[in-house]
Amino acid sequence: MIIVMQPKAPKAQIDALLERIVKSGCKPYLTQGVERTVINVLGDLRTLEPERDWAAFPGIEQILRIQKPYKLASKEHAAQRTAIELDGVCFGDRDFVFIAGPCSVEGRTQVFEAASMLVQQGFKVMRASAFKPRTSPYEFQGLGKEGLKLLREVKKQTGLLVETEITDVRAVEWAPEYVDIVRVGSRNMHNSELLKEMGKLDLPVILKRGLSATIKEFIMAAEYILKSGNSKVIFCERGIRTYETTYRNTLDISAVIFLKHETHLPVIVDPSHAAGNRLLIPGLCRAALAAGADGLLVEAHPKPEQAFSDGAQSLGPEQLAEVRADLATLAPHFGRRLV
Ligand code: PEP
Ligand code: MN
Repeated sequence: MIIVMQPKAPKAQIDALLERIVKSGCKPYLTQGVERTVINVLGDLRTLEPERDWAAFPGIEQILRIQKPYKLASKEHAAQRTAIELDGVCFGDRDFVFIAGPCSVEGRTQVFEAASMLVQQGFKVMRASAFKPRTSPYEFQGLGKEGLKLLREVKKQTGLLVETEITDVRAVEWAPEYVDIVRVGSRNMHNSELLKEMGKLDLPVILKRGLSATIKEFIMAAEYILKSGNSKVIFCERGIRTYETTYRNTLDISAVIFLKHETHLPVIVDPSHAAGNRLLIPGLCRAALAAGADGLLVEAHPKPEQAFSDGAQSLGPEQLAEVRADLATLAPHFGRRLV
């Protein structure tokens, strides 16, 4: 970290700051220019917040952080990229994992119809939410624990791996009994208590980007899960809120490239919640593959027009099959195997 003092900052102000730096366990190195003093601060600043805590010292003009605030997620701190293996499906390595399924678990008939659609088309992992964090409390809120039970039945009867969102710290401990992969939804990306609980699980966690989260905030949310002991974190870019209102959100494809560059964790893309419209899904899936994503999380429903939630962005059986066939052809060109 570099601290630039104001021109002609008095020695007493500099000394007071130096004392604080040393007290914090860091080493200050002074460079005395004609006009100003610049202090190089050496030490592990990840657990400190000098921008907030030291800024109150008089005489400071600017504090510049060089070190990144994340550690466990950072590529620099890992011997190799993280690959998460699960019953022959691998996130973060050669596989391009295509997860699909309905937005919500709506009931036995619907969830089994969805599962058989997926099995017929060769899918290995199904998504479906039992807990629905809806924008309006008057909309369908999900079946809760009953939904989890249905997912466990689907898993038993079809052999599909099942993935679902957990919205509440109280439900985290139920997850291993019912599902294979858990998800932190966008609205909960900033819920540090939930992230810490997810860190106690031995299940892969798909961490979705918050509605307006910066990349730094996104990585710091992963850091919470990693720090609590769970190394199986998968980033999911799902679009962010921008000035553009034509789509539900704007898919930040740069995030895929940047996260793969900056961290060692797998990155997948949810084009459905980014687009809000099934028209855009095939192209966004291709973009995700080309950008280097490790997989997709796509909403698909046996009868989208009857879906309890997000029907407009859900693919029907035919379109789902078309997208899958397209990606199966393209994946090997990017060194990937479609799963
Ligand atoms: C979902 O995937 O079911 C969902 C609610 O998406 P998001 O958290 O990205 O809004
Ligand atoms: Mn949805």
